[in-house]
Amino acid sequence: MIEFKDVNKWYGAYHALNNINAEVATGEVVVICGPSGSGKSTLIRTVNRLEEIQGGTISFKGADVHAKNVNINEFRSHIGFVFQSFNLFPHLSVADNIMLAPVNVQKRGKPGARQIALSLLDRVGLAHKADAFPGQLSGGQQQRVAIARALAMNPPAMLFDEPTSALDPEMVGEVLQVMKNLAREGMTMMCVTHEMNFAREVADRVWFMDAGALVESGTPEEFFSHPKSERAQKFLSDLR
Ligand code: ATP
Ligand code: MG
Repeated sequence: MIEFKDVNKWYGAYHALNNINAEVATGEVVVICGPSGSGKSTLIRTVNRLEEIQGGTISFKGADVHAKNVNINEFRSHIGFVFQSFNLFPHLSVADNIMLAPVNVQKRGKPGARQIALSLLDRVGLAHKADAFPGQLSGGQQQRVAIARALAMNPPAMLFDEPTSALDPEMVGEVLQVMKNLAREGMTMMCVTHEMNFAREVADRVWFMDAGALVESGTPEEFFSHPKSERAQKFLSDLR
């Protein structure tokens, strides 16, 4: 569903993505790990064009993401993206946050959009918070709302960039559980995370990045038990 071919990116003189070749199949869950500054966020952000690339191609469901004639806003509304910070609109209720895209982009009527919002909130265990405001929720609850909001356009794929790293430890589990459920339902997912237990349990493949390169790609068993490169071996031993 998502394919990287000879993808290169520079920030000025800095080679941030070094010839990335990889593929995420439909229904696959890929966890991206690697040291700080290795290019994980940059890579995931190229998929919905929050970052431009200078070489190679990225295709999403067969279409060239970085083609000149792509309507970026329309395209982005079809890929769910969840960041470290939740970025909910504080002056809108939880349900209204989720209804924004269905109402404004899909031009759905409010009653229908609210129905969708309520069923998504139910899926993330927050049906009772529909009329609360973001400020009244815990961090873990806000992140679950952010996931529900990302799902509102019924995207075929979801991108996550460290969705649990800004959370207090006791709230990490509830967000990972929502992501696990999504994975089980067959969602195509790219997740940058330091939660190695999540990677072990949920990932179909683990990608290990270092210095802008995709150094290894393997099953969790291959990556955690038999890392091939010295760099991955060092990364894993530093975690312990
Ligand atoms: P972390 O685990 O800390 O989030 P990361 O693997 O996500 O790290 P990136 O944020 O993708 O790393 O950054 C990769 C490299 O590109 C880093 O050296 C970073 O300093 C550099 N970089 C990122 N964004 C920019 C930018 N807008 N301008 C210049 N350099 C940047
Ligand atoms: Mg990052």
